[in-house]
Amino acid sequence: MVSSTQQLSAHKIRTTEIRIAVLNLFLENKQALSKQDIEQFLPNQDRITLYRTLKTFEDKGLIHRVINSSNILKYALCSDSCSHDYHNDQHIHFECTNCRQTTCIENVPLPKLTLPKEYLVQNLELTVSGLCKDCK
Ligand SMILES: [Zn+2]
Ligand SMILES: [Zn+2]
Ligand SMILES: [Zn+2]
Repeated sequence: MVSSTQQLSAHKIRTTEIRIAVLNLFLENKQALSKQDIEQFLPNQDRITLYRTLKTFEDKGLIHRVINSSNILKYALCSDSCSHDYHNDQHIHFECTNCRQTTCIENVPLPKLTLPKEYLVQNLELTVSGLCKDCK
């Protein structure tokens, strides 16, 4: 597996202790994390620095936003195809109605939508809810 330091440098993000800590959280958890989740994992970190770190990661194509049914903003790791200024996260998100974990489902193609021709689709977000493998 690629180390967090390598991932940071691949996305041209300067390595700092907090950036490594936040990235490791995403790598270890394999699910979308809210700001609150991250604060709980890293209770001794300054909030503003945490938020800035998330913003930097999002800007550099390392994490993307995941909105769930309760409108809590979460972030999840991007695939390798995302880079600075360009996100390519066209995949399904799965939200468990029991434990509320949200995960990226990368290998299922999004359904094709046919809209009236006066509309130009630029982004499609699809969240599927149900029970995850631990709750089923
Ligand atoms: Zn992305
Ligand atoms: Zn679950
Ligand atoms: Zn995702």
